[in-house]
Amino acid sequence: MSTVQKRAVQEPMLEPVEGRIGVGEAGALSEGAFAGARREGLELSVVVPVYNEAPALHKLHERLSATLQSLGRSYEIIYVDDGSGDGTNGLLREIHRRDPKAKVIAFNRNYGQHAAVLAGFETARGEVIITLDGDLQNPPEEIPRLLEKIEEGHDVVGGWRKGREDTLFRRICSLMINRVTSLIVGVRMRDYGCMLRAYRRPVIEQVCRSQEASSFIPALANCFAGSVAEIPVAHSARKSGRSKYTPFRLLRLNFDLLTGFSLLPIQVVGLAGVFIAFLGLAFALFLAIRRLLVGPEVEGVFTLFAILFFFVGLQILALGLIGEYIGRIYMEVRRRPRYVIKEVLD
Ligand code: UDP
Ligand code: MG
Repeated sequence: MSTVQKRAVQEPMLEPVEGRIGVGEAGALSEGAFAGARREGLELSVVVPVYNEAPALHKLHERLSATLQSLGRSYEIIYVDDGSGDGTNGLLREIHRRDPKAKVIAFNRNYGQHAAVLAGFETARGEVIITLDGDLQNPPEEIPRLLEKIEEGHDVVGGWRKGREDTLFRRICSLMINRVTSLIVGVRMRDYGCMLRAYRRPVIEQVCRSQEASSFIPALANCFAGSVAEIPVAHSARKSGRSKYTPFRLLRLNFDLLTGFSLLPIQVVGLAGVFIAFLGLAFALFLAIRRLLVGPEVEGVFTLFAILFFFVGLQILALGLIGEYIGRIYMEVRRRPRYVIKEVLD
């Protein structure tokens, strides 16, 4: 059994111990997932999720290593192969063979970017943990600036992509999503979608302990961070391969984000229900007075249809939302593993 799998099995034992899991009490966790890490005392862990990114990998490792070496700190790079089928796995083995600082976790199939990052977090040993995309859209050269900022005393430092090299459609979607996410998480950030970020260890420990079926890491981490900062970072166009996020997958991820972090959608529909009920009451009152003053109403049948359809639509929406939340509860109670690790190269 690999070390990672062992840890995953041990993990539930950590959960019920009250008073030992607060942020900042990381040192108290002696027998848990991070115990070995403390002894080794690495300064930095970089977690990179990769899914079919073979053409970019060597260049990425080269640039990432050069940047990290120039910092003069102890570090590790954890590549999480999210079930690639394009030779990524073979290349990662080669990188691991040549560079002992490169660790590889390979999933048995594709579980998604956030599951991959979580698996990286579970094994990360650094005091500061950095995430970045494996397609070179996030320049590794920005890492020193993230570290500088985190050393000012922040728990999380996010990058926001300045001059973002993505399609207009993606950028418009992101703009709306960032507003809504800021609202529901309660931490204003310009760019929740940017994965070039740095986290302090206690925050990541809390993230690992949140055993939610589906999670959106930047939002989840912000829920536990005392102090959050954001700095502009460069963004490059994708040079090879293509985005793994189809519009449908993007929609799914963001709907997940909305319902996974708040009850806001269902509350908004609830409020709309109250508002409409009042409107209906006022309309009934108006009709009653009109009946007395003008006489019976004969026309307006189709207006009634229009109003009725509006209400029916709203009811279906409310039902759908309730269904979504129940679906989430169902996913949570099943307690299925979020990913399955096929192999670990440590
Ligand atoms: N990724 C992953 N699993 C997935 C989808 C994406 O590990 O199921 C990785 C991907 O290899 C890349 C990062 O997550 O390193 C971001 O993905 P992508 O570049 O496709 O997203 P975009 O930049 O279009 O938002
Ligand atoms: Mg990308």
